Amino acid sequence: MSGVYIISAPSGSGKSTLVNRVRLIVPGLKFSISYTTRAPRAGEENGREYYFVSRAEFEEMIRQDAFLEYAEVFGNYYGTARRFLLEAEEEGKDLLLDIDVQGAAQIKRKIPGAVSIFILPPNRQELEKRLRTRSLDAEPVIQRRLVTASREIENYDKYDYILINDRLEESIDALKSILLAERLKRAGAQEEKQRSADDTDLIAKAERCRLNNVRERLRPILASFEKVAAPGIR
Ligand code: ADP
Ligand code: 5GP
Repeated sequence: MSGVYIISAPSGSGKSTLVNRVRLIVPGLKFSISYTTRAPRAGEENGREYYFVSRAEFEEMIRQDAFLEYAEVFGNYYGTARRFLLEAEEEGKDLLLDIDVQGAAQIKRKIPGAVSIFILPPNRQELEKRLRTRSLDAEPVIQRRLVTASREIENYDKYDYILINDRLEESIDALKSILLAERLKRAGAQEEKQRSADDTDLIAKAERCRLNNVRERLRPILASFEKVAAPGIR
């Protein structure tokens, strides 16, 4: 059985950056390419970042029960095709899903063993800065993403792991540790006496990102998002 990893994050937290880097260093991962009705951004290619389809095509796929989960995000449909999980199983790989909080909840219901990871920016100011430096979105879209981020962040406690993406290299290492530690557990190497020193180190690093172990570090981050009453008002 393939392991399933769910990664969610408010837009601009650095999820794509982290996932792209981790894919280069963790073998045996299959990346699910979602279907979406949103328009491609500059530089995006059909079949690489997403499969870009019309609303009618997406709704036809819903009717055919082709999705493991789907949701409406920013007014567009996004969905994970069932076939990716089947393909991951055939290829003996673990499946990595980059999906929003609604999709994460649907997957957790269907696949209780799925491991969920929520990526957070160090604070709201930094998120705003990252959204701007990425300069992919127009100003109203950035403002909308910030408001949505505050709402999404409230769901942090539905996830198994929380990764605060402050220093990039440390975050890459933490994400790698979570993926590999969970793989070790699935392989049945949870018996402490069977573990090598490297495995013990990996598991310890992953444990530092467990929801219960980051609650204190989360406080100021959550507070930075709560301070904003409404878009445009600081
Ligand atoms: P997401 O996929 O979550 O929307 P991106 O990966 O596109 O976010 O990252 C948003 C911006 O933040 C990009 O310009 C990226 O280079 C930058 N970024 C990502 N991680 C970090 C980090 N740890 N420190 C500083 N900048 C980062
Ligand atoms: P973006 O438009 O920035 O690429 O993605 C917007 C949001 O949609 C992100 O939070 C992303 O995780 C989410 N998303 C992407 N693909 C899927 C999917 O297949 N299902 C769900 N539920 N959300 C998705």
